Amino acid sequence: MTDEFVVTPYKVSGEVDYEVLIERFGTKRIDEQLLARLAKYGPLHPMLRRQIFYSHRDLDWVLDEYDKGNRFSLYTGRGPSGPIHLGHMMPWAFAKYLQDTFKAKLWFQLTDDEKFMFYDQLTLEETKRWGYENALDIIALGFDPKLTRLFLDTEYIKTMYPTAIKAAKRINFSTIRAVFGFDNQNNVGSIFFTSIQTVPCFLESMEQKRKVPCLIPCGIDQDPHFRITRDIAEGMGYYKPALLHAKLMPSLQGANKMSTSSGNETTIFTVDDRKTVKKKIGNAFTGGRVSVEEQKKLGGDPDVCSVHQYNTYFFEPDDKKLAKLYDDCRAGRIMCGECKNLLFEKVWAFLEEHQRKRAKAKDVLEDFFVRD
Ligand code: SF4
Repeated sequence: MTDEFVVTPYKVSGEVDYEVLIERFGTKRIDEQLLARLAKYGPLHPMLRRQIFYSHRDLDWVLDEYDKGNRFSLYTGRGPSGPIHLGHMMPWAFAKYLQDTFKAKLWFQLTDDEKFMFYDQLTLEETKRWGYENALDIIALGFDPKLTRLFLDTEYIKTMYPTAIKAAKRINFSTIRAVFGFDNQNNVGSIFFTSIQTVPCFLESMEQKRKVPCLIPCGIDQDPHFRITRDIAEGMGYYKPALLHAKLMPSLQGANKMSTSSGNETTIFTVDDRKTVKKKIGNAFTGGRVSVEEQKKLGGDPDVCSVHQYNTYFFEPDDKKLAKLYDDCRAGRIMCGECKNLLFEKVWAFLEEHQRKRAKAKDVLEDFFVRD
């Protein structure tokens, strides 16, 4: 069964086996030794301790360079096609941890061009508008304006285009077809797009006019883009970008990845109100039993439970509290209603604060954006 799953930047389906994915993509596990090394720079982020960020390419090399005084830049991005949900925020919160820990400059790309080319129903004006909407959520996470450059592809293309076409000349169609699973029906813009996605790996080098390492924290579904970038980087006179890969945040339905397309009923958006959030968590898929009596007797199954996944991924940073929730569930000491309520309180506390910061982000938008 596990062989049947598909993970590309444009499609995630089936039951993802993350161990198999490491082999399939040819990445490396973040092992105990690397975790111990990371812990020397500051407290380990829960997503590292819990192996949510679990795989990498050349992270050890990036740290070697950092130790020598050759600091890296960070690159992450967002395809602006709609509102932000909690699954989007996870790698960004981690990017903030990296920025804070290593005082790293972050290039944050908003791919309004990509979403226009890939979504028939969206106009370019709409993807651009979503870009500016989504930027509010990004800024609200607390990135340092002095160390963060936000840009829309269509507004920064003059800077990026010469490098994009140098990349494009080195990538042939058969590679694109093999990596992304495209066929003759894909428009030529989507086939070209990975050349644009390559450029932010080199923006810091372009700006400083010397080779600067780049580290990309992202969902592992994004890895194929950067495999291509890594293949061509040295030929273009840059370092290969390094990557840190996260498992994909599951939806409240218990499916693989929280997705806007999996339906509004199971996806918590950052702008949802209290009542809506409560309802969505109330409807979450759990590992509970059919009756309270049975659950008291047999316990629940946190390993398949989306509520527990939410706590693990984002909402219960305290390892001891998380372990207690796990044990209480297994032992039948906590029922799903109470457990969902506990999660709701944490999610809502986070969102209420986020919405306040999001409203204020409008005033400082220009401190973050770069344009041609
Ligand atoms: Fe999930 Fe909590 Fe129910 Fe256990 S008690 S199955 S962790 S909701």
